[in-house]
Amino acid sequence: MTTELTTQRTFTDAADLLAVIQPATGGRRIMDPATGELVGLAPEHTVPDLESAITAARASQPAWGALTHGERSAFLNGAADAVEASAEALAELLSREQGKPLNGPNARFEVGACAAWLRATASFELEPEVLFDDESGRAELHYRPLGVVGAIGPWNWPMMISTWQLAPALRMGNTVVLKPSGNTPLSVLALGHVLNTALPADVLHVVSGHRDVGAVLAAHPDIAKIMFTGSTATGQDIIRSSADTVKRLTLELGGNDAGIVLPDVDPQAIAEDLFWGAFINTGQTCASLKRLYVHEDIYEEVVDALSQVARAMPMGVGIDETNVLGPLQNKAQFEIVANLVQAAKDDGARIVVGGNPETGQPGYFYPTTLVADIKNDNPLVTEEQFGPALPVVKYSTVDEAVEMANGLEVGLGASVWSSDKDKAREVAARIQAGSVWINKHGTVDPRAPFGGAKMSGYGVEFGVEGLKHLGQPQVISY
Ligand code: NAD
Repeated sequence: MTTELTTQRTFTDAADLLAVIQPATGGRRIMDPATGELVGLAPEHTVPDLESAITAARASQPAWGALTHGERSAFLNGAADAVEASAEALAELLSREQGKPLNGPNARFEVGACAAWLRATASFELEPEVLFDDESGRAELHYRPLGVVGAIGPWNWPMMISTWQLAPALRMGNTVVLKPSGNTPLSVLALGHVLNTALPADVLHVVSGHRDVGAVLAAHPDIAKIMFTGSTATGQDIIRSSADTVKRLTLELGGNDAGIVLPDVDPQAIAEDLFWGAFINTGQTCASLKRLYVHEDIYEEVVDALSQVARAMPMGVGIDETNVLGPLQNKAQFEIVANLVQAAKDDGARIVVGGNPETGQPGYFYPTTLVADIKNDNPLVTEEQFGPALPVVKYSTVDEAVEMANGLEVGLGASVWSSDKDKAREVAARIQAGSVWINKHGTVDPRAPFGGAKMSGYGVEFGVEGLKHLGQPQVISY
């Protein structure tokens, strides 16, 4: 395999990155969701482009797979160095295309997480496991590369989620063809370009197409596994299209995370963590708090404390350093949120903060919205709103709260809030979700497996468990 790298260089700003990823002619106009201004031109890759990428990734896989874990980890660490060297340029482009502010837990944070995940993924130990070694013989469990992995991602955390998919895939000796969302292709093309300055040729390809390109990737006979993050409906399409080739799948799908606040909390003390649990990335986060269940004894105090935090958080154009909340990424998402809040108003729910988007302004800004006195069967509660609108439902008994939390078909994350950790752990054990946080929500860690229960998907990412999902288990016995 050639280990000659693309010219290693540092990018200083978004324009510098755009200069290397935009097509020489044509391209699709990508607009800034905060201002409506042109961000850049995205290449319109087609199915033949995808075929070429898969052929090249397939050709490079045997040599990449033949490297040791240590050698591949060294490449991942080099890729992390490259991301860090161009971090500000990547964050600026991400902010302009996705809408999230530079500041707060947003664009700079996301780029930082890409480097952190690359390094963590490089650091995990995965030694062959000796299953038994006695007078009857010996058996060892190894994890071999699968081949070419297809990665398909969403638009909310485009760089970070792409990294979650590609880093373990590469570490395990697979090569990768990545298809970003049509809403945020520039961010992922730029990240791919930067990573490729530190990776051997052809182990990572980014193909910037639409659903049709994704559908061909998901069904392709030369793709061994699909890492998919996106909606449950698309995940179901991918399950169907994987059938003919018995493709391996990791599916990180939609969620509608519940938080249960027990009556023993100090509302002021938890308000800011509750806020960010729900409103990180302006609510456009798979595992963010989307339904809050609060005990009747402290209901008003929690709503009041949350509303004080909500009013203090500046929302606006992401490139402006003062903002920590941005616009919705696209018009369709804006309309989903606006319609769900309207449904809550129509049903008599109380709008505590927000709920009235300004009209006639550029950008898909929906104000931070808290909705109280809402029924548990209201669509703002039962559907994934994926935006800055949090319904707060009152409950009387813990049994009732647990039943409401478990009442939906999805189960990505959940949280329990209490000053008594043992009590919180008891409640956590009763919740049907892949992750349950106590006194925080949505804080993922590269060492801890992350995945959904029920219709939020299957398979896990992160940690050694995540690596195993990118390998073919092979038992050697003698
Ligand atoms: P989406 O399902 O519309 O699209 C995701 C990706 O799939 C895009 O790249 C799209 O082009 C591609 N795609 C669409 N149809 C396809 C098909 N038939 N075959 C193959 N690929 C296809 O999702 P979205 O709107 O981009 O993202 C929002 C959703 O993602 C929300 O439901 C959110 O909860 C979920 N999400 C989940 C996680 C998680 O870790 N569980 C993380 C982030 C987002």
